[in-house]
Amino acid sequence: MKPLSKLVLGATLVFGAVTLYQWGVKNGQEGISSSLVVEAANAANAEQHPGARELDVYYPGTEELAPDEMRVIACGTGMPMPRLKQAAACFLIELGNGDKFIFDMGNGSFERIHALGISLDHLDKVFITHPHMDHMADLATFYMTGPQNNRSVPLRVWGPGGGGMRPEWSFKTAMDHMEKMWAWMNGTLAGTIDTTAFKLVVTEYDWSKVNNVIYEDNGVVIRSLPAIHFEGTASFILEWNGLRLAFSGDSLPNKWWIEHTKGVDLAIHECFFTPEMAMEKWSFSPTEAINAVTTIHANPQYFAKVMAMTKPKHAVAYHFQNDFDTQPIIRKAIEQIYDGPVDYAEDFMVWNVTKAGVRTRMAVVNPAGYPPPPLKEKKIDAGGERYQTPDSVLAGWPEEFNAVADKIYSDFNEEHGTDYKFQLKK
Ligand SMILES: [Zn+2]
Ligand SMILES: [Zn+2]
Repeated sequence: MKPLSKLVLGATLVFGAVTLYQWGVKNGQEGISSSLVVEAANAANAEQHPGARELDVYYPGTEELAPDEMRVIACGTGMPMPRLKQAAACFLIELGNGDKFIFDMGNGSFERIHALGISLDHLDKVFITHPHMDHMADLATFYMTGPQNNRSVPLRVWGPGGGGMRPEWSFKTAMDHMEKMWAWMNGTLAGTIDTTAFKLVVTEYDWSKVNNVIYEDNGVVIRSLPAIHFEGTASFILEWNGLRLAFSGDSLPNKWWIEHTKGVDLAIHECFFTPEMAMEKWSFSPTEAINAVTTIHANPQYFAKVMAMTKPKHAVAYHFQNDFDTQPIIRKAIEQIYDGPVDYAEDFMVWNVTKAGVRTRMAVVNPAGYPPPPLKEKKIDAGGERYQTPDSVLAGWPEEFNAVADKIYSDFNEEHGTDYKFQLKK
């Protein structure tokens, strides 16, 4: 640039700056903002008050499912080792036809199921892949606290049996023993609150059969596949309205899964730690670590290869502690083998599944919920094998509390138009 041009440019810039400054001062004196200031303020206001936009979270109970839509909510994605962040295996499946199913109910999942605020009368179908604690432990809690949580219908449960499984290990035996174990509790509730929901309808499916129909109703078909895990372990495929969901439970890769889950809309498959992670995080010995993740459970490489061979529309890896320092290792191992869409499951992850595809969000639940009301009127069965506090213990009731109880009764009767009388002994 020539010296003259430099001078002209410099003079122009100085003149421009002075003019702008004076214009700003003038505007300030007269109480008028520059247009830039107005623009900035508008932008700030818009940021403070965003308009309605599509939610990227799911608030349970606020969205109707479309007639052709499936919603899956993770109520447990972790391990038998208890942690607040992740319960053990449990997935709730809700269909646009109103049906709901629960696949597995591992330890810790009970609270998560209840946090969704769904009436227990809608949650009456539970399918168990195998009777490990991390897939079945909370079934007892879920069933035995049904009356307090307003269940008014029997609970239907499906679990493995047959196929050479020794009878003392079968699902029916386990459920029979579960009811016996909690007989005392059942006895204390009967005659006090409505216990008509204490009915367990147990169905055993032959875990060894391939693509075996174990449920068929209202357009929904659930099939089981043998899982390579232990005697009496299965995987499930749910089919409805042209949508297919596959759930591995616990399993090594196997030819049945590979044959029958090709191209499913949502494949939820176990994905364990690597042996090194098992040693570091779980304090497994080298022998335990290498055995567990290669001969009993599917490690990330197994998971990835299965997905590469079956190409689901959307894959979900679960059954590991999903943390900032574990997920990257698992993700890296998977991505070296499989490049399709994978979600690394966390509790309360939600998948809306339609023929158009899968949408993943996180549910935001109410941590201080109460049980929703029952769908039927409550009634208390008279008689039965009700537990009675022995007279020798009732003798410990202080007489002066009769007046306190009587006052509560008279107030209650007046308020509700009833005629109850206080009596300790039924
Ligand atoms: Zn297992
Ligand atoms: Zn498991």
